[in-house]
Amino acid sequence: MGRKTAIIAGLVILLACGACGDAEGSRKQNAVKGGETITPSPGASAPVAYGGESSVLPQVSSVPLPTPTPMPVSPVTHKAGLAAIGDVLIHNSVYNDARTKDGGFDFTPMLEPVKGLLAQPDLLVANQESITGGEELGLSSYPQFNSPFQIGDALLDAGVDMVTMANNHTLDKREKGVLSATAYWDKIGMPYTGAFRSAEDQAKLRILERNGISFAFLAYTYGTNGIPVPEGKPYLVNLLDPVLMEKEIRDSKSRADFTVVSVHWGTEYQEEANTTQRELAQKMADWGADVIIGTHPHVLQTIEWVTAADGRRTLVMYSLGNFLSAQEKTIQLVGGIGQVEAVKTVTGDRVELRLEKPAFTPVYTRYINWRNYRVIPMGDLDGTSYSQPKAVWSKIKDRMLRAMPELEVRDGAGDTAS
Ligand SMILES: [Zn+2]
Repeated sequence: MGRKTAIIAGLVILLACGACGDAEGSRKQNAVKGGETITPSPGASAPVAYGGESSVLPQVSSVPLPTPTPMPVSPVTHKAGLAAIGDVLIHNSVYNDARTKDGGFDFTPMLEPVKGLLAQPDLLVANQESITGGEELGLSSYPQFNSPFQIGDALLDAGVDMVTMANNHTLDKREKGVLSATAYWDKIGMPYTGAFRSAEDQAKLRILERNGISFAFLAYTYGTNGIPVPEGKPYLVNLLDPVLMEKEIRDSKSRADFTVVSVHWGTEYQEEANTTQRELAQKMADWGADVIIGTHPHVLQTIEWVTAADGRRTLVMYSLGNFLSAQEKTIQLVGGIGQVEAVKTVTGDRVELRLEKPAFTPVYTRYINWRNYRVIPMGDLDGTSYSQPKAVWSKIKDRMLRAMPELEVRDGAGDTAS
């Protein structure tokens, strides 16, 4: 009996102490009100109550405070279409075809048939594969290219908003080529990324805003065809350096709504993305890339969603093929415009970002006897004369739709500029 009483008494003491401990503990905790942390003075001897648990609270009026009515916040939705085209690779027959009677160059007729299509998206990115060092550095073709400045004028005229310069041909005219090309892009007011004139230029993140949505642009290449990057000048071309990429992608994610990363990668003439591309796409998505624009294989590869570590959907266009070139095989002449709609919904302080409606419009570079280069929407090619490109495209289309059934394939017919 006596032992049982002692145990019960002990329990009562423990419970009482436990209660004391709780009260003491809650007194030591910081009270958080309206986001501010309030720390009670440790030396305070007067009873301080938090949460109304003390009986020594001063008497207050019992009139209830009016409940504030929350202001109704209706969501505001912003939308912007982002599109990209593949390699602009200016072989000698292309620039010779662009020569004008006064000794200049005019590439605008080549893009005229797709001008209406290119004008539709709010933002358009192009990969200028051959360096545009200009005539003074000596024009050249494969294997070490140098293109006239005027291809830049034609891209600007066609509605291109951002040129990516990180390619295996970036250093074809060495440092001079990069300095000359970047100076010309600046002269005509065309934003560029992936190759830079200086470390300061490289450090400037390119952000473009459309319809209240901001997009950051980055670009990298797997290599420079064995031409070494000049010592101490890594800014001349962004290589696929995972440390640099992770740092820049994470940084851009914190500074813009959407991060668009162009990557020159993959295996030439392979219509399927390789393991390296897939693994890198996943990493870039995890780091924060929202849209990945792939180029270099010179043929179309699939467009796919990749789920990032944080659950976002990243759109990966593994390869957009050639947009304008003098390559010869039909699969090298079928390219296109990859597109997606960026949606930003703002509700009070909350911002929700998502990508919707991935789409693709195929185009074909037509030329006859190395003359009269024209980039034409596939839908505008007549089926009898162009049955071969149409058949090739049909196979590519099946593969693209298998990889992404929701992809909207547009034929682009009748969208030519008036
Ligand atoms: Zn390339």
